[in-house]
Amino acid sequence: MPSSSETKSVVVIGAGLTGLTAAHFLNRRGCRVRVLERSERPGGVIRSIREEGFLVEGGPNVMSVDDPLLLDFFRDIGLESEVLAASPAAHQRFIVRRGRPVPIPTSLWSFLRTPLLSAAGKLRLLSEPFAARAEPGAEDSVAGFTRRRLGVEALDYAVNPLVAGIYAGDPERLSVRHAFPSLHHLERRYGSLTCGGIATAMRRGPPRKRFKARSISFRSGLQAIVDAIGAELGNALSTGVTIDALEPGPPFTVRFRSALLGAEMLAADAIVLAVPGHAAARLPFAPTTAERLSVLREVEYPAVASVALGFPRAAVRHPLDGFGVLVPAREDLHILGTLFTSSLFAGRAPEGSVLLTTYVGGTRQPELAALPDQALCRIVQDDLETLLGVEGEPTFRRVTRHAHAIAQYNLGYQRFHDAMEEAELQLPGLFMGGALRDGPSMGACIRAGIKLAARVTPL
Ligand SMILES: Cc1cc2nc3c(=O)[nH]c(=O)nc-3n(C[C@H](O)[C@H](O)[C@H](O)COP(=O)(O)OP(=O)(O)OC[C@H]3O[C@@H](n4cnc5c(N)ncnc54)[C@H](O)[C@@H]3O)c2cc1C
Repeated sequence: MPSSSETKSVVVIGAGLTGLTAAHFLNRRGCRVRVLERSERPGGVIRSIREEGFLVEGGPNVMSVDDPLLLDFFRDIGLESEVLAASPAAHQRFIVRRGRPVPIPTSLWSFLRTPLLSAAGKLRLLSEPFAARAEPGAEDSVAGFTRRRLGVEALDYAVNPLVAGIYAGDPERLSVRHAFPSLHHLERRYGSLTCGGIATAMRRGPPRKRFKARSISFRSGLQAIVDAIGAELGNALSTGVTIDALEPGPPFTVRFRSALLGAEMLAADAIVLAVPGHAAARLPFAPTTAERLSVLREVEYPAVASVALGFPRAAVRHPLDGFGVLVPAREDLHILGTLFTSSLFAGRAPEGSVLLTTYVGGTRQPELAALPDQALCRIVQDDLETLLGVEGEPTFRRVTRHAHAIAQYNLGYQRFHDAMEEAELQLPGLFMGGALRDGPSMGACIRAGIKLAARVTPL
């Protein structure tokens, strides 16, 4: 392997957010980078579409910037001036109870008055510091953890809809240790979320000195990140690629082909793998590595459909004065939740119209995500009528489907983590990361890309 990063050649497999971020930082570190992407366009699940005056996000809609590192990254890829902060009016979030969107309380006073939880549910939640700790060695589900620490109502009307919003997943199956590691850690370290939360806040110092998390997008949508790094990579990014062989190294030999370039062969000092589990399990590695990674085909990725509907403002009774609404499984509705997209960000809908983005499917009802467009839009419209008083037909529709949407960090996830670690140990020069290993949020994937580049070329 070459000793200096200047001469290192790296093949990045997968041009989603993780692979693109890794490629950007590998470039910065002087590596010769080639990115190979299976589909015809880079970006993975990120896709912004401008149509009929609406700006639709087919995948993620909003990114939480909870770390100054992410702002440095935007500056580094030339997007600092393109950042679009969520409207302050969109601060309010709603959860459905008895068919009505109820604001999530943001102060003690609003918590005491909220109809989201009964008086008994609130008392149970406030008694959290006295809840029993987890059995040593037992792996807790998110639902089991919440029932034990916060009570059944908090599970049904806070955690269940939150999990639908982040993972489109099932709290009974998600592992708290892997899906929400900070909660797991607070319990382990402090014995209680309340005590741990207070101790952590005190350690961080006064609120005015802390980095304040904010929700953002870009003027042209989240795809701005993909476009910026795609332009930087130029011909070093190949799409529509099929990988035929990954022969062990280093140097590795990567054989691949695409309709545009025909068959090619590359020698690489390192391979960065930033693809979903089911894709990693199918890559043509030598048998020992292929066998190690084959377990990744068991990672659950439920189907999700994103349904963007535009309406005249006057057709929606709800003031849409917030971020959006999340739907608990207990409520008799079909959707997972709806973002008030045109309230969140300026420029998402033409004057006089609103844009609502609704997610359907997930582990709750994956079959709904496969409905034909018309049937899918019908169930969304029916639920929006109940929840937000939306009347009449939409003036704009755009459905985006993800057959394998978000990796589920379910009970037993550790075996996937171990398989990735073992594959890396077995094959020095192989580096894996992304939504499957580092967390599903866009911020986590960017951090994963930065970490991958640093692991390939330690300074
Ligand atoms: C519907 C939806 C809504 C979401 N909303 C939000 C949100 O609002 N905020 C947020 O922070 N996060 C959100 N997320 C999560 C976040 O967008 C993703 O976790 C993140 O973008 C994943 O990036 P990635 O690069 O790890 O994976 P991916 O985006 O899955 O990229 C992997 C890439 O690898 C390619 N690939 C696969 N197999 C091969 C192969 N054999 N050879 C070459 N290339 C291959 C794929 O085509 C793809 O381009 C959402 C996700 C979905 C699906």
